[in-house]
Order: sequence, then C-alpha cells, then structure tokens
Amino acid sequence: MMQNTSVVIIGGGPAGLSAALTLSDEKIPVTVFEADPVYLGGISRTVRHGDYLTDIGGHRFFSKSRDIEDFWSRILGDDLLERPRSSRILYRGNLFSYPLRAFEVLRKIGYGESFLCIASYVKSHFIPVRPAKTFEDWVVNRFGKRLFQIFFKTYTEKVWGIPCDRISADWAAQRINSLSLGVAILNALTPWRTRSRRVKTLVESFRYPRKGPGMMWESCAKKLMTAGGNVVMGSPVDRLVWDKNTSQWTIEGTNSHGARFKHQARHVISTMPLCDLIPALDPPASEIALAAAKGLRYRDFITISVVVPDLGKDDDGTGGGIFQENWLYIHDPAVKVGRIQNYRSWSPEMVPAVSPGQPERTFLGVEYFCFKGDGLWESPDHELIALAKKELLATGILKKPEHFLEAFVNRQEKAYPVYDETYKDHVWSIRDEIAARYPGLHVSGRNGMHKYNNQDHAMMTGILTAKNIIAGQNLWDIWRVNQDAEYLESPGGKGGLIDPPVET
Ligand SMILES: Cc1cc2nc3c(=O)[nH]c(=O)nc-3n(C[C@H](O)[C@H](O)[C@H](O)COP(=O)(O)OP(=O)(O)OC[C@H]3O[C@@H](n4cnc5c(N)ncnc54)[C@H](O)[C@@H]3O)c2cc1C
Repeated sequence: MMQNTSVVIIGGGPAGLSAALTLSDEKIPVTVFEADPVYLGGISRTVRHGDYLTDIGGHRFFSKSRDIEDFWSRILGDDLLERPRSSRILYRGNLFSYPLRAFEVLRKIGYGESFLCIASYVKSHFIPVRPAKTFEDWVVNRFGKRLFQIFFKTYTEKVWGIPCDRISADWAAQRINSLSLGVAILNALTPWRTRSRRVKTLVESFRYPRKGPGMMWESCAKKLMTAGGNVVMGSPVDRLVWDKNTSQWTIEGTNSHGARFKHQARHVISTMPLCDLIPALDPPASEIALAAAKGLRYRDFITISVVVPDLGKDDDGTGGGIFQENWLYIHDPAVKVGRIQNYRSWSPEMVPAVSPGQPERTFLGVEYFCFKGDGLWESPDHELIALAKKELLATGILKKPEHFLEAFVNRQEKAYPVYDETYKDHVWSIRDEIAARYPGLHVSGRNGMHKYNNQDHAMMTGILTAKNIIAGQNLWDIWRVNQDAEYLESPGGKGGLIDPPVET
C-alpha cells in the first residue's frame, strides 16, 4: 500500500533519530526506515549476548555543543553515568599511561631511546619534509621520525590498513590536533614545554548510558513514537524515485517479511552510505556520480567480545588482574588486535550481576580493523575467537587460557569512511549531483556524508537538516559542522575550522 508522510528518514542511527525527533517536536509527520531488524543506534548500538552487552567501538558521549549535551540529557536523564576517561597504550610489552607521564616513558622506552626521540624531533624541526604530502610527512615534521615510529605508525596502519606514506597529510592535519597523542608524548619527554601548552582535547570525563549507547537510541525512538513518529525496523531502503510532476519522493524497500514497501514523502533525509544511495536513485544518477559513489572506500571492524573473570586491579599491568581502564590501545606490531575494551569499566551494567560468593566477571571487546572481503573479515567465527584468545594471551592481558570463558563475534561494515587521495573529489561530485538534480533529498550523518563524524556531529548534521526542512530554506550548511562549531546556536555558522576528532 502507498502511504504518504512529509519526511522519510533512512537509517535509525544517531543522525536519523535526532533528525526525526527534531521534526516530530514541530509536529511534522516522520517515518524512519531502519535496515537492522533488531537494533537501533547504528554503529552506536548496544549488542546483547544474553546479559552481556557489547558497545561497538566504545562510545563516549561528549560534545562541545551544549545543545547536543542537552539533547542526551533530555532522552536519558539519570540513566547517563559520568565516567572518567582512562586508557593506556600497550607497546612492546609495556603499558604507558595516556596521557604519557615523562618518567614512566623514560623508564620504559629507556633513556637512550628517549634521547634519540628528542634528537629526531629537533632534526625534523630544522629540516622538515617540504612539501608535507602524506600523513607520515606531516607527523614526522611535527614530532620527529622516532616518535612517529613508536606511537603513530603501527596503530595508524592497523586502523586504516594503508601505509602512513599513502594517507593524505590534510587528513593528519585535521586529526592530530585533536588526537594530541604526539603533543602528549612530546610534553612527556620534554616537560619544560608543558607549562605553556595544555593537551588540547584530551577529554577527561564523558557520559555513558547505563546499558551502553544503544539505550540512548532506543529511548529516543520511544519518545519519537510517543510523539506520533513511526520507526520501521528490518526495512532496508533500496530505491528512491523522484517525481518532478508531483514533487514527491517514493521510497522503496523490502520489509522484514520479505514484502516490498513503498512510502511517499516530500523530503528524504538519507543517512545510508553514499555509495548505496547514489545507485538507488531514479531517475538514475549521472555516470560521474555513479563512478564517484563506487570510488568511496570504507574500513570495516570486528569486535570479539569475551567473558573473562574480573580479577581486579592490576596496577603495573603485569599481575594477575584485568586492566581497569576503559580501553587499551595496542600499538604492538606483533599482534593484529588494535584496541581492547573493558566494558565493565564503561558501565557496571554491561555485565550481569553475579550471585553472592560467585567470582566477578567482566566483558572485553577485542577489536580488529579490516576490509570486508579480506582474510580477517572472511574468517569463520571460531577462527576469530581463536585469534582473540591467542592475542589476549600473547599481550599478557589474559594470564591463563582457562580465563577465556566465552566469546561472541560482532562484525561492523563501513565503520570508518576512508579519507584517501580521491574521496574529496568523489564527495564533491555527489554533492553537486544531489543539489542539481534531486530536490528534497538531504544527506546527513557519518557514512551519509562520508564524513568522519563522531555521533555528536552526526546528530548535529541530522538536526540541522531537520531545521532546514522546518524553515523551508537552507539556513544551515551542514557540510561545515565540525569540531569547534557551537553550530546550533548560530545560523550561518561561524565554524568551518577542522573536522571532528577520531575516536581511535
Ligand atoms: C570504532 C568506533 C568507535 C566510535 N566511538 C565513538 C565515540 O566514542 N563517541 C562518539 O560520539 N562517536 C563514536 N563513534 C562514531 C559514531 O559511531 C558515529 O558517529 C555515529 O554512529 C554515526 O551516526 P549515523 O546515524 O550517521 O550513522 P550510523 O551509526 O552508521 O547509522 C546509520 C543507520 O542507517 C542504517 N541503514 C544503512 N543503510 C540503510 C538502508 N539502505 N535502509 C535503511 N537503513 C539503513 C544502518 O543500519 C544504521 O542503523 C565511533 C565509531 C566507531 C566505528
């Protein structure tokens, strides 16, 4: 049956649901189609394995925008916990505090290596690579070759699967300021510099839903439905037909019963990946836009969630305990794992309570970055579980094989939009095409815009798109939403400085 509604939103992730609630606050009828049959929240969902809860990537709720923080408070109120941010770096068997502490670094990498790091920093300062074209050039120029090799190269290559000399320098320029790792290291090694320089964006605490990030988006959807909005699960959209005579969109897909559905709307907000949106358009997109969509690349992500005994605090990382930080970065080149989460440190409610007298347990997230179709992605679950077990033991995080109690595999496609040499041109071709040929079609969110958005920025793009629709004109340029924007407060936006920080 053909139904009519004013706005259809593709995707029930942070961007789509924030846009939907903003529209329904203004009594605009809205329908959200979500591909997943079970979970809302997109990448920011909570996956349930019985009473154990997995957060894909570990989602800190932190924003510089008051409006976004207020949005979260409105949805979850007291269900949002205030958490300290704590993480450490594992490199060649040593755990380094993050931010680094000077004497710990000196002790662990040795005075000789520290001296070489400072010497190579000084060299890069006086003889920089010009022009700095690649990520490697950019980082080496700022921090020196040795610090680059110890604290940037391995982890960055694990995350992106591309050698650092093939990642573009402008991407580094957008990111490293925010990541501040190099500044932290440099400050640690050269403490006399620290007094004048604050580690800029090391957020010391963040909020977190008691039951993981998905709790936010499930509650948001409930509010939306109470206000009259519609959320349809298990319904991937695969065709969008624009009728210029009626100025209406017909949105088509297959529902959870395998039947085709059609829905009409004046506006569509798409948070589905651009590479899927463009070939779904009718009238068909131009060859240029189709080729651009095909050229966009993504990095995929596997989490192996593991139940282990929680043996308590382990101050130096060498005792019998499980680390108590939120996560560890694994810079060690000897293992494939990139990061390990301890979900219980995010919220005690991520693991079930044990009966009195029973040993405590926690839930670890062993994270691997990969490309869909590569060996890791294609490995059967039992091989991935065996790999996680081997690497938890190899890194010393688990001391005994019998501590590996139970494990579950979670695959996340398109976790990261890749910023390679061609992505900008591709995104521009697509933006031009949509603006010129498809009125009422709006893109928002992370993969929806192929933009490295954290969820607050993804939400902001959704909310501002909704506000543009409400206003009947483009008051807000959502492409300029960025890390420093207090965007919701100032139409026209004064931001436009740099892209959001990464969560890696
Ligand atoms: C490892 C990792 C760690 C992260 N950590 C943080 C963090 O600490 N803090 C933070 O703020 N952000 C973090 N992020 C970023 C955050 O996950 C994203 O910014 C956010 O989820 C983007 O929201 P979105 O709605 O744009 O997209 P998504 O979350 O991708 O949601 C899109 C939704 O659209 C649905 N969909 C796709 N195609 C279709 C279709 N054809 N039809 C219908 N539905 C469709 C998907 O199923 C999904 O539910 C992290 C991301 C990763 C990968």
